Amino acid sequence: MTDAELAAIVGHEIGHLSTQTGATRQGALSETSGDLATESAADEFAVRLLDRNHLPKTAMRTALQKLLSLSDATESRDGLDARLAKLP
Ligand SMILES: [Zn+2]
Repeated sequence: MTDAELAAIVGHEIGHLSTQTGATRQGALSETSGDLATESAADEFAVRLLDRNHLPKTAMRTALQKLLSLSDATESRDGLDARLAKLP
């Protein structure tokens, strides 16, 4: 992972913390049991954070793609593919 991709992952998690209560917070970037809207909102937060810090907005996408390449669970792939479709 590049520095920008690590920033994207941290930004995604901060996005959860800033938009959700602890009771509904999802802990893992690749968590797909949470709903797609929640994960996509955290992804969007991360993209805005990247842009504000003059990092490539595509880092969220490439970080997810790298996680996807490590995943062997087809149900996880479906969730990540849907999120990738919404990213720059
Ligand atoms: Zn998440």
